[in-house]
Amino acid sequence: MNCITIRFYGELNDFLPLERRQVAFRHCFRGRPAAKDVIESLGVPHPEVDLLLVDGQSVGFGHRLRGGERVSVYPPFRSLEVGDLSAVRPAPPEEPRFVLDNHLSKLAGYLRMVGLDARYRKDAGDEEIAATAAAEARIVLTRDRVLLKRSQVAHGYCVREDDPERQLFEVISRFHLFDRLRPFTRCMRCNGVLEPVAREEVWERLPQQVREFYTEYTRCPACGGVYWRGTHYDRMREKIQRLQAAARGQQPAGAAACEEGPGPAGRADGSSESVAEGPRQTGAGRAGTGAEAEAGEVGMPETCGPVRGDEGDG
Ligand SMILES: [Zn+2]
Repeated sequence: MNCITIRFYGELNDFLPLERRQVAFRHCFRGRPAAKDVIESLGVPHPEVDLLLVDGQSVGFGHRLRGGERVSVYPPFRSLEVGDLSAVRPAPPEEPRFVLDNHLSKLAGYLRMVGLDARYRKDAGDEEIAATAAAEARIVLTRDRVLLKRSQVAHGYCVREDDPERQLFEVISRFHLFDRLRPFTRCMRCNGVLEPVAREEVWERLPQQVREFYTEYTRCPACGGVYWRGTHYDRMREKIQRLQAAARGQQPAGAAACEEGPGPAGRADGSSESVAEGPRQTGAGRAGTGAEAEAGEVGMPETCGPVRGDEGDG
């Protein structure tokens, strides 16, 4: 057996049993495994790792360990100067794009609400999610470590929080997205980019009381959903401003580590107090272009979700 001394830093400790957190510990193995395999065998998915030092030298995931080394494993640095050490992964996509695991429907809706590109399909399996991430250079968001360990997943993050609103904050903080938020520019149902539309064009689909009170409308070119700045709009905007204010203050406390194996389906979406508001949507007359072949159910509240019976994959 060959043994190394290894220590994980920062939030990577979320994945370790208590006795291994924040300390260097001995770990033994047979042969000369790649560093990536050793790290993942200890429970930490590789997309969570940003820097790997072996005896003080930065190395890649493929670096073979032979025993006797001291290994330090770091998450992405928030403010630390890493100098000329090289990160193990390629730089993340410049314009952040996400693909979400199927138990994070509410988070998908929230991300879209703030204008972030979030692919989500409720029936998507791990294989499809990993393939989408690779093909479209998307960051995988999940609570399932096994999904993150797939080699196709270059960029990913294991969501620690349970509450969807806190999850949104967590993701925005983790990927430094506060300057990139464009609230109410995306369809919460299918991720399409909303376009302004003349009231006359959608007149027939608008409820009577909406026609009277609102003059500005947007439409999703992908699913045809129509949005207006309804009574909930301001509360929604306040919520976003609260998130931004909180970001200037403090980081949210990390919650329990991610689950090993299938994520706790439903848990992340089970809270009923979450988005009880949003830009309202008629949900009528979906164009069904199939530009985004996604089911519309993003776990949004009834006030902004698709009208019953109007469901389908577009
Ligand atoms: Zn849409």
